[in-house]
Amino acid sequence: MPEYLLETKNLKIHFPVYGGLFRRKTGKVYAVDGVSLKVKAGETVGLVGESGCGKTTVGRAVLRLYELTGGDVIFEGKNISGMSESEIRPLRRNMQMVFQDPFESLDARQTVGDILEEPLIIHGIGSPSARRKEVENLLSRVGMTESSITRFPHEFSGGQRQRIGIARAIALKPRLVVCDEPVSALDVSIQSQILNLLLDLQSEMNLAYLFIAHDLAVVKHISDHIAVMYLGKIVEYTDADTIYQKPLHPYTKALISAIPVPDPSVRNKKTVLHGDVPSPSHPPSGCSFHTRCPVAFDRCRTDEPELLPAPGTEGENHLVACHLVNS
Ligand code: SF4
Repeated sequence: MPEYLLETKNLKIHFPVYGGLFRRKTGKVYAVDGVSLKVKAGETVGLVGESGCGKTTVGRAVLRLYELTGGDVIFEGKNISGMSESEIRPLRRNMQMVFQDPFESLDARQTVGDILEEPLIIHGIGSPSARRKEVENLLSRVGMTESSITRFPHEFSGGQRQRIGIARAIALKPRLVVCDEPVSALDVSIQSQILNLLLDLQSEMNLAYLFIAHDLAVVKHISDHIAVMYLGKIVEYTDADTIYQKPLHPYTKALISAIPVPDPSVRNKKTVLHGDVPSPSHPPSGCSFHTRCPVAFDRCRTDEPELLPAPGTEGENHLVACHLVNS
């Protein structure tokens, strides 16, 4: 058994930009630019960053929904980077996705029963009666009643639709689920129910999650390890406790300072980041965060920092890409 269920090595996804009268290629968007990640069976790795940092593209690239520009994706010990669609299809059973907007990801013309039975039919699993039983079982696992089978997605609330999306994702008993902002579109009161459901399913089924979110508060309770992304690169990676208690990268510190504190008597010292995330088609020179970093200095504008073990740490337990930390 390989040590890691999923590994990405120096993963790159660059999208061409076309322009002008003849729609010629005029540039590239560096959506993902050298991301290396490791996920063990049964664990959750949170992938966090502002919108446009490339985290969703990483999630989709892992499932090979995009052609890779460079690097490798290794799943269950097999390098799937150069595999054809027909070679990947049998592996897809073990790697599934939960989407941000369950309404868009569920076919509005299908009943819930059909939506959940479809992956079983595609993979030739069970007789019609066995599949019906499995659909009932899936619904009960995600806290939905059997009567949902004949109803359509629009008849459910956002939280219930996300439960249906999760039931579909686990229908084939996968080993890895990429959760792409699965609670961002839901009310705060529903978010924790969905997160608890994901945690319960993880312990029942030994699922691994690559959990994508724009907000560190959401990944706090679900993640074992957290990778913080900025402009297509990982800038800090460590275990979930360390990232909250001892963040080292100035960008991680800013994200943590933005988490609301429930006790109004506790005043949180906020680091306000000025300006927008630069365009990934024209990433800044040197450290890509230098245009917004409150502690940037000369070297940051010219030299790109490497993702290196933080001083005083061992192996790859805490990695940071910052000249200030690693000097
Ligand atoms: Fe800030 Fe420089 Fe560190 Fe980048 S390398 S995060 S600009 S201090």
